[in-house]
Amino acid sequence: MRPFLFSKSSAINQALAKKNNTTQYIAGGTNLVDLMKKNIAEPESLVDITSTLSAKIEPTAKGLQIGAMVRNTALANDATVMAKFPLVSKAILAGASPQIRNMASTGGNLLQRTRCPYFYDVTTPCNKRKPDSGCSAIHGENRMNAIVGYSEQCVAVHPSDLCVALAALDATVKTQDKSGKTQSIAFKGFHRLPGTTPEKDNNLPANALIHSIELTENSFAKNCAYVKVRDRDSYAFALVSVAAALNLKGNQIVEARLASGGVAHKPWRWFEAEQFLKGKTANAANFEAAANIAIKGLKPLSHNGFKVLMLKGAIETALQQCLNP
Ligand SMILES: Cc1cc2nc3c(=O)[nH]c(=O)nc-3n(C[C@H](O)[C@H](O)[C@H](O)COP(=O)(O)OP(=O)(O)OC[C@H]3O[C@@H](n4cnc5c(N)ncnc54)[C@H](O)[C@@H]3O)c2cc1C
Ligand code: SF4
Repeated sequence: MRPFLFSKSSAINQALAKKNNTTQYIAGGTNLVDLMKKNIAEPESLVDITSTLSAKIEPTAKGLQIGAMVRNTALANDATVMAKFPLVSKAILAGASPQIRNMASTGGNLLQRTRCPYFYDVTTPCNKRKPDSGCSAIHGENRMNAIVGYSEQCVAVHPSDLCVALAALDATVKTQDKSGKTQSIAFKGFHRLPGTTPEKDNNLPANALIHSIELTENSFAKNCAYVKVRDRDSYAFALVSVAAALNLKGNQIVEARLASGGVAHKPWRWFEAEQFLKGKTANAANFEAAANIAIKGLKPLSHNGFKVLMLKGAIETALQQCLNP
């Protein structure tokens, strides 16, 4: 690991003043420290933001504001989150391990990097780690990689579970930059597809930080589910995951939300399937039809064709679980 300077900031303006291209923030450190040990991230200085940013979950006029330093465990176990946004709790609890969730922050979870094996193997080409070096996964070991939204330059997937729930619930990411400017970025526009710039995972403005996440109250609290399919029952990233939420009137679907992890470079919304479900009866036949719409046109890679049927099953299971949460 390369030597680095370390400092702590107690105020946002102080932390932002220290930020430049060679400085990185450290929150829980559960991803960044691993990247530094492997010389994938080589910051000259680290700014500890654990006492800079809010670790509070606070009500707002429209819903809830989650400070970027709220730890994953605290978020999953918060009484208001469990009552009003249970999908968030379910997704977090499907991820990592209790110890990691105790350390991991909300902001860090959004910014964690892909788990593509070649990204972590510095002896192999990887456009995300080293632009224009090539993509080892596209014709290599790509079992865990994308089946939609990828490019010739990168077929990696975003690894977060929390982000899949936040995508389904149309969360907003609040950012603040060096000049003090704040921005509210709709969740669907926060993470990026790889295109020709796979080194960029998201649209966080340069030298800015994530201040908080905002959730708007909705009618999905009663009927929602998170289904994660993985190699082990715990401590493993998703092969595919599905966050499903239904707003029901009797057994009629007023509105549906469907998002997936493990399938694309960003949490992926199945908008066409959601639209199909609107106004339909909540039953197995319609859930299967929605799943078929979602998987139509997917383009698996050489080693991950199994994900397509797995996804279909996960969507149907998640929708079914929404009826008996
Ligand atoms: C073994 C293992 C298994 C895991 N399994 C899962 C899983 O199944 N599902 C899942 O979702 N996750 C999983 N994770 C990932 C874990 O959830 C993330 O590592 C964690 O959420 C990152 O949060 P952190 O606070 O530790 O981030 P850090 O490691 O501190 O930071 C990550 C990145 O975010 C930046 N950063 C952090 N906070 C801010 C901010 N507020 N503003 C700007 N930049 C910021 C840092 O500079 C860094 O670049 C796993 C991790 C490990 C090690
Ligand atoms: S898929 Fe992306 S992260 Fe993986 S080797 Fe290719 S460029 Fe690197």
